[in-house]
Amino acid sequence: MAFVPSYAQSGVRMCSACGANVPATMQACMACNGAPSASMSLPVPQGGANWVQLRMELGCVQCGNRSALNTLSEGRYFCTSCQADRQFDADLWHEKIVPLSAAVGDVLWTNMRVFPPWPGVLPDEDWLDDQDGWDDLSGSIPAIMRDIFPRLGYERPRLRAEQEGTVMSSGGMKTGTYAAEMFPGHPLCDACKVPLVVSFPARGLAQTQCPQCKASDTHKTPDSVLMKCPDLLAALAPELVQGRAPARLEQKPGTAAVAILCSGCGSALAMQPGDRIVKCQYCSTTSFIPERALPVQAGPPDKRPWWIAVYSPSSLRRLLMQPGAGRNRPSDPPDNDPFDF
Ligand SMILES: [Zn+2]
Ligand SMILES: [Zn+2]
Ligand SMILES: [Zn+2]
Ligand SMILES: [Zn+2]
Repeated sequence: MAFVPSYAQSGVRMCSACGANVPATMQACMACNGAPSASMSLPVPQGGANWVQLRMELGCVQCGNRSALNTLSEGRYFCTSCQADRQFDADLWHEKIVPLSAAVGDVLWTNMRVFPPWPGVLPDEDWLDDQDGWDDLSGSIPAIMRDIFPRLGYERPRLRAEQEGTVMSSGGMKTGTYAAEMFPGHPLCDACKVPLVVSFPARGLAQTQCPQCKASDTHKTPDSVLMKCPDLLAALAPELVQGRAPARLEQKPGTAAVAILCSGCGSALAMQPGDRIVKCQYCSTTSFIPERALPVQAGPPDKRPWWIAVYSPSSLRRLLMQPGAGRNRPSDPPDNDPFDF
């Protein structure tokens, strides 16, 4: 059945499986290899809010292997190789992932002539270094703006950022090793694969409804991340749904096997391979399946799409809109601070 969402369609091609944008020059979705939808295009962003799909992995400080990060976590993730909780540096969100994602969404919709043009400024690294909050990205932004941004939506569907390292903090040793792919797009209903209708009752809250099956959820973004990320409107991930608890895990006596039980009534959940969210057949409570309960898999990290809604104008666009942005003026005094070693 053809379905017309309540959004205006933009004409920008959309993956029928995951909702990422698919440039007209590409045969299949670069995020999931799905086919571009024949009947629907991406919904036009409303009020500047636009969606970016994230696919992320983190490197473990103990074993060195990479695991997927499939939600907006405040600093914990599960290493599937160690089968243990690990910490990552949550500054990653406000220093890199969110401002870059917001810029990527803003640029794609600018390239597609939905948002107004950016100021014609290519900033240099020295100038960015001097701007509050941009020193972590100052080395990469000039090249990204020159080489990637003009192609977004035409030849490239995404920006990929990667870094290796370790961060020492009061909380101990954390990983700074990550890879993140940011695809502008629109979140789909898991079951029906049609664009979700989303409203934002407040910043940090996203109320989703599937116009076809009417399934509805409210996703809550962790406040600690929201506070530090002015570009972030809300995040969507199975783990962030309000009132949805993780399934209970119970060691079966005398074995290494773990029973997966309903978070409501404690009945055993009937799961299909790949299920992340399971509805109890007895009490109808939905639970999400914690990473640690999933079968251990060989091969690359099991990255699943999740989404953030970001604002346009993005903070990078706003930075470049300032008078004189982009370059230190020749009249600036030379950097000869005697205390700067
Ligand atoms: Zn896809
Ligand atoms: Zn590990
Ligand atoms: Zn649906
Ligand atoms: Zn139940």
